Amino acid sequence: MRVQPTAYVDGLITPLEEAKIPLLDRGFLYGDSVYEVFRTYDGVPLFWEEHFDRQEKSASLIHMPITQTREQMLDAIRETVSTARVDDGNDDPGEVYVRFHLSRGVGPVDLFPDPQLKTSFMVIVKPVPEWNPIHYSEGLQVAVTDVRRNSDDSLSPNIKSGNYLNNILALAEATSKGADDCLMLNASGELTEASNSNVFYVIDGVVKTASRDSGILDGITGQALRQISKEADWAIEDCRLGLEDLKQADEAFVTSATREVMPIRAVLMPDGKKQEFPAGGGGLTRKIAASYKQFVTDYSRSNIAAKLW
Ligand code: PMP
Repeated sequence: MRVQPTAYVDGLITPLEEAKIPLLDRGFLYGDSVYEVFRTYDGVPLFWEEHFDRQEKSASLIHMPITQTREQMLDAIRETVSTARVDDGNDDPGEVYVRFHLSRGVGPVDLFPDPQLKTSFMVIVKPVPEWNPIHYSEGLQVAVTDVRRNSDDSLSPNIKSGNYLNNILALAEATSKGADDCLMLNASGELTEASNSNVFYVIDGVVKTASRDSGILDGITGQALRQISKEADWAIEDCRLGLEDLKQADEAFVTSATREVMPIRAVLMPDGKKQEFPAGGGGLTRKIAASYKQFVTDYSRSNIAAKLW
């Protein structure tokens, strides 16, 4: 199988690079949109219900009534995936990355979020991204940035919106410092998250991560780890964490739907010092990464009915 990058825009399926949206689309004009990303394992869209739930939550946080039903969106995703997967005779299973996006719709150039507008639905299907293998064998280098995470009461990080400028600015700063990704603080100087992943630390044998009220996106991969931890000999604590806590950490890793569990090799601190962690992740990070892979395998086996092909 080969996965040909393919798009769906309100009923029209085209090769991704040919896809067009109207200039008056509010997602384009104002970032007035919400989106989700999942990937398939053995054809099963991982945690697809949780992603739809989060999308509905994001839409409700921006007061956006959704025109499309979940079934209509799933049908559109299936149709796009089926167009994207081309049988070229090789034995690649053709797993896909799916980004699905709801824009408040097309309207006048006017900020008012008219509840009468009909939401537009768009899908991007691509091959699953291949991260640089060094990011697993060694780990990510992240830099604590001067750019802070949006505060919860101005633009909640829990809205997974089409406006990622906060994260883009932090990522640009981090890469200019030679890092792969950013680690953003909130307005009070507490740890939050990376540009598109949540961050976990192993401190005194306990896995700690920034609590939701620190101002982060509630990641679905992280939620899966919480579920796994219930049966494991390690626990996750959601708390408010500062740079002093980070200095006490023995291991660190990030999580996201496409990165899964990816170790952090080093953090560039604001004082210019480098905090290093074990190459390829410490013992607990490796154990958690392996448990996550197993959990995903079990999930795809028990959710065969949701297969996209
Ligand atoms: N934080 C941000 C800002 C993100 O964009 C993402 C990716 N959606 C995550 C965390 C991780 O979320 P998930 O585990 O649901 O992919």
